[in-house]
Amino acid sequence: MAGDGREREDLQQRLAQILGEDNVLVDEPMSKHTTFQIGGPADLFVTPDDADELAEAVAACKEVETPFFLLGCGSDLLVSDEGYRGVIISLTEGLINVAVDGNEMSCQAGVGLREASEMACELGLSGLEFACGIPGSIGGACFMNAGAYDGCIADVLKSVRVLTPDGSFATLGVDELDLGYRKSRIADEGLIVLSATFVLKKAKPEAIRATMDDLTRRREEKQPLDLPSAGSTFKRPEGHFAGKLISDAGLKGWQSGGAGVSKKHAGFVVNLGGATAADVHAVIEHVQDEVERQFGVRLEPEVRFL
Ligand SMILES: Cc1cc2nc3c(=O)[nH]c(=O)nc-3n(C[C@H](O)[C@H](O)[C@H](O)COP(=O)(O)OP(=O)(O)OC[C@H]3O[C@@H](n4cnc5c(N)ncnc54)[C@H](O)[C@@H]3O)c2cc1C
Repeated sequence: MAGDGREREDLQQRLAQILGEDNVLVDEPMSKHTTFQIGGPADLFVTPDDADELAEAVAACKEVETPFFLLGCGSDLLVSDEGYRGVIISLTEGLINVAVDGNEMSCQAGVGLREASEMACELGLSGLEFACGIPGSIGGACFMNAGAYDGCIADVLKSVRVLTPDGSFATLGVDELDLGYRKSRIADEGLIVLSATFVLKKAKPEAIRATMDDLTRRREEKQPLDLPSAGSTFKRPEGHFAGKLISDAGLKGWQSGGAGVSKKHAGFVVNLGGATAADVHAVIEHVQDEVERQFGVRLEPEVRFL
């Protein structure tokens, strides 16, 4: 953490007052909280139980000008080997309630997308099938308008409840969120998603299940789900597919240390065992340079670096 050990202890105590001692961890390895299974220690790692605690924790960090970072499932993140100098605020333990009202389903930010789509299926509510294989949280999914197989969050989202940078709560309709391909106003303006409401359609659970099974099968066939990764490493460049460019550049299986381009799907950089963040960076940079040299296209990472 920026500043001295004393500052860190003071903030630790303040956060323990707000969240309870058990909800404040020191030097927590981020490799335990990312799907890459990579990342050094976070100075402080906290797990608020509800939106009010979250708001208070954020205010406490701001008061002493300590950086903080909102963590969902860590499925789109590469955390550095040095870890994070500040406070990681993890939402997947406390903000996990779901409420259903007719065709509308409201999920708190820490609910898993997969759990949400499972629940919708069981209730005979269609619309979240596309999300059944995305290992992120509702908050992370709104942040980057997660999508797959012709579906995305924007298609089914009605509104989000957010904490704004000035510390107030607000409800924003989907039209106010500027949702685009892996982008949103949430990301641009540093809004914190507390919950999201989806408008779904009544359908037969068996039909929903059949679609989900089909998407799962397609994913299992194509993606290296047996190895830790953060999903597609690069955004889709206009007019191309990242995986095809990487494959055509002869980079399938290219390795640096414990990280490499998946042999199964070139769009995924995977942790082959013991990879460091530096290894993953080396693979990403090599892929970017080589694809650009051969095809004149600079790939942009979809994975976020912390
Ligand atoms: C095997 C695999 C397959 C994948 N397939 C897909 C796919 O098909 N489609 C797709 O879109 N993605 C896919 N992903 C990537 C990832 O799962 C999604 O982008 C997901 O939405 C990230 O959510 P998260 O909770 O893990 O976010 P994190 O990785 O925890 O965080 C990502 C960003 O979201 C921010 N964030 C998290 N929660 C909040 C919140 N409550 N409020 C504000 N900001 C927040 C974080 O600060 C961070 O900047 C895949 C990943 C893996 C590992």
